[in-house]
Amino acid sequence: MTVYLDHAATTPLDPRVRDAMRPWLDDDQAPGRWGNPSSTHALGRIAREAIETARDQVAAALGVTPLEVLFTAGGTEADNQALKGIAWAAREAGRGSHLVTTAIEHHAVLDSIDWLVAHQGFSATVVAVGTDGVVDPERLLAAVQADTVVVSVMAANNEIGTVQPLDVIGPALRERHVALHTDAVQAFGRAPLEVDAWGIRALALSAHKFNGPKGVGVLMLRRDLAVQPLLHGGGQERGVRSGTLNAPGIVGCGIAAELAVADMATEVPRLAALRGRLLSGLQAVGDVTLNGSAAARLPHNANVSVGGCDGEALLAALDRSGIAVSTGSACQSGAVGFSHVLEAIGASEDRAHVRFTCGRTTTEADIDKAIASFTDCVTALRASGGGYL
Ligand code: PLP
Repeated sequence: MTVYLDHAATTPLDPRVRDAMRPWLDDDQAPGRWGNPSSTHALGRIAREAIETARDQVAAALGVTPLEVLFTAGGTEADNQALKGIAWAAREAGRGSHLVTTAIEHHAVLDSIDWLVAHQGFSATVVAVGTDGVVDPERLLAAVQADTVVVSVMAANNEIGTVQPLDVIGPALRERHVALHTDAVQAFGRAPLEVDAWGIRALALSAHKFNGPKGVGVLMLRRDLAVQPLLHGGGQERGVRSGTLNAPGIVGCGIAAELAVADMATEVPRLAALRGRLLSGLQAVGDVTLNGSAAARLPHNANVSVGGCDGEALLAALDRSGIAVSTGSACQSGAVGFSHVLEAIGASEDRAHVRFTCGRTTTEADIDKAIASFTDCVTALRASGGGYL
């Protein structure tokens, strides 16, 4: 059996979520749940009711009103829609065309902003982070100009798990009347998210990162924030996200969001304890250091830098021994080049960087097996020259 320690890449579907989704997929189990939620007849109304229940669940999990919750096809779409939509609407209203973000954002944010700059005439400032992987609020706020229309700072990083100081950044941006967008895909269910107190105006989630289904996301958009749509069509989701709604997926997203928040009080300390056990086991091998702040960090993430080993060789050796981990983000694996996040914190390309992320299904036995395999793989690689190409 594979020991799965890559929960930042994706998480297994929780059986409770699967059970809630099943009637929406299986006509034998519950006939007549396949209607289009936009249809006005009885079949449509049944589906619509389920969508609205899921919207209520997500809204409650985020502490916002249901009207502020829009369903998308994932985190990537939610980030794209938020940034492009806010930027277009703000420029049209004559409020400016400058964006601010950080160097460690997910590519869904960085590449959206790059595209706005390269093809749409916007300008942007990408703010560096410290070697601890945390952005300095003063440095970020110094990048805000009179014509800045949106600042995008992730709640927590997907590679190194560092939690960003939105509690300081958000209120300062609110005072300046600049919209804050946050990619909370990794933070949701693992760290506090105070939408109201922090003045978050737009926020992205992805259901498959919190034991929900793949291909479903959430864009939380404050009611009075003007955006232009990416997709044009039937005008679903307040006219922001046209397209027939994915009822089974959205039902799953709703229950998954409810469970993630309900379980946080027990799950966060459990994950932190597992991560602590893992980290001390990994470090016992020698010359293994933690990438990113130990304090401002998601509880499930141990991204380590290993001396004397090649990263790809170590990852392949761990894979052969049944340990599923990652070097950076899942989208980057196999891609050529060093992770932009590791580069931003000044990590060395000569060392191996391995991301271990625990989750709801992780046990102490998994951690102990991972430590034993890591010890064997690193020892063997170092003995054979590190596995460098
Ligand atoms: N943002 C972050 C921080 C992520 O980790 C991911 C997924 O890896 C995404 C966005 C994209 O989410 P999705 O896979 O739902 O498109």
